[in-house]
Amino acid sequence: MTYYIPDRTCPRKPLKQNNTEQKEFEWAQVQGVPCKLIKEDGDTVTLHSFTSDFGQNFRILKHEFQEQFTKADMHGDIIHTPAYPSGLHVSEFDKRKDANELIAKVLKFIEDETLRNKLKQTAVSQGCTHTAGITDYFKVKSGEKVLGPLENFGDAVFNRTKRHAPPIPNEYTHDEFKQTKGFPAPIGIRTKDFCLPSEMIKGVTELLVQMARFENTDLKFQDFVKSLGIEIPDGHHCCKWCGKSVDASKCASKYKSATNYIELCHRDPNGMFSAENVYWGHGDCNRRQGGYTEHDRIDDVVGLAAQDPTFRAELLRKLGL
Ligand SMILES: [Zn+2]
Repeated sequence: MTYYIPDRTCPRKPLKQNNTEQKEFEWAQVQGVPCKLIKEDGDTVTLHSFTSDFGQNFRILKHEFQEQFTKADMHGDIIHTPAYPSGLHVSEFDKRKDANELIAKVLKFIEDETLRNKLKQTAVSQGCTHTAGITDYFKVKSGEKVLGPLENFGDAVFNRTKRHAPPIPNEYTHDEFKQTKGFPAPIGIRTKDFCLPSEMIKGVTELLVQMARFENTDLKFQDFVKSLGIEIPDGHHCCKWCGKSVDASKCASKYKSATNYIELCHRDPNGMFSAENVYWGHGDCNRRQGGYTEHDRIDDVVGLAAQDPTFRAELLRKLGL
């Protein structure tokens, strides 16, 4: 298999099953995202991008291919591209399907709307309201829309896309974005939303184990998790913020504050989606954490205790120190 790396994001019309182009453009070609070479045919080249839907290809003219793509530098099964700083293992192409199937199976089993909606969040990146749409992209490229020198048009971040789109470093600036060849086309997602399909499988598996260990969990759900070949350790799952258990009966939509009772929490809100960082916690606890990391909050307590001798003594006593 040969892989190629595009130097820019460009809208393309994905191919339908009968090998003709669909009517609508999509962001099928994304800067730095490896594309599998499907076939070369006369004047055209057919490619499949890592960020496209499984099995969905696009076709481009050979001269465009030569201008915009370079053959990927490989190290064993790892594809090197700056878009994925740790490289991309070729097996991640197939794991996309496994991750999708796992999420689909889970969503099919879970009927409760609250839990379904929260689980659906795991599959896509967060939205971005400034991203240029494909219509705007063509207007800018054709000169129909002229941008002022100080106008911050568009955004490097896609407005909701797959979590395995390239992570954009937090320090990336709009000026850097303006220099990209595909500008104003987006190039990736926030680092905190990024997750390779293999990590997605691990993260979702961990969330399922936690759900199977909720207090008052449904035995049918436990059997379902076991049927996926996932082991469930004894004991209850506890919220990592307060250390208290999470009650399945309060997560269901019929419970009056179900949407607020449970939340998909992040130990480090700027960290990636991973089995270590994401967990089911109490909505109240999540609000108390308020977008800070656990360490930030511990530092706050240390700062407060250092200035208040009574609180300090009480804290040390509570910690048994
Ligand atoms: Zn809690």
